[in-house]
Amino acid sequence: MQYQEILNIIEAETLNRSNTGRVASYIPELAKIDADKLGMHLYCINSGHYGFGDENERFSIQSISKVFSLTLAMSLLDDELFKRVDVEPSGDPFNSLIQLEYENGIPRNPLINAGALVIADTLVSILKNPQEEFLNFIHVITGDTTIDINSKVFDSEKKHSYRNASLLNLMKSFGNIKNDLETVLDLYIYQCSIEMSCKELATAFMIYANAGKILSNDVQIIPSGKVKRINAIMQTCGFYDEAGEFSFRVGLPGKSGVGGGIAAIHPGHYAVTVWSPPLNPKGNSKLGMYALERLTTLTGFSIF
Ligand code: GLU
Repeated sequence: MQYQEILNIIEAETLNRSNTGRVASYIPELAKIDADKLGMHLYCINSGHYGFGDENERFSIQSISKVFSLTLAMSLLDDELFKRVDVEPSGDPFNSLIQLEYENGIPRNPLINAGALVIADTLVSILKNPQEEFLNFIHVITGDTTIDINSKVFDSEKKHSYRNASLLNLMKSFGNIKNDLETVLDLYIYQCSIEMSCKELATAFMIYANAGKILSNDVQIIPSGKVKRINAIMQTCGFYDEAGEFSFRVGLPGKSGVGGGIAAIHPGHYAVTVWSPPLNPKGNSKLGMYALERLTTLTGFSIF
């Protein structure tokens, strides 16, 4: 079967399902999104682009940005980074403070908020203009310089960032944050408020499917040995406290965000993204997970 035929089946099946998820509202600006949006994009190494629905409409990438900040930090630093952030699944909600207290301010992994804040701190230490350089990194891996943040989402999250500020303060008390707290928080909120479409996200995620190289120009963004590690972290930690369920149902490494996006990859084969804003109780896109489960089921092809 051809990929576009499979996507057409997934579109029809997904539109037929009742969506019991709920759009994220703790960042008020995200609550305004149309809950019926649905898009999917598949970018294959051998055969190019396939998609359906709202695949070209930009949405808030939120936590999916944590994969890009980790990649940027790992491209600049070696293993010393992992003295400050671990690589174990947390089993706790993404913004939990509890584990951090027990574990002396060392976050479980770079894809929960505490871990992403440590990564943002390392970028603030290394980069001269962290926000601009982060956005530039996205421009390089997508080849698209029009990608930008949504400043309303930035302001909205900034006004409600008590928890992330708490995480930063707690980690600072353990000596695991080196820079000014507000500068680090601003970089984190900035990266989360970037908007990209399914097609743009799949293009960006192609570096994880293609051993660290941009497919269109062969530029090596990060060594393949480091991509192996990033993909392992996505597989074990990319879906809040539902990484096991995602592996069980879908069987691909990936990362979700509270904007309703999910990006996943099949190493050596493809990058795939889906967007449907209503979330399940764990914070993952309800229909997005279903669509990806159908992809690996109908193609008979996952990493397992
Ligand atoms: N900016 C969001 C937060 O920190 C990201 C959450 C997410 O997508 O998981 O709450």
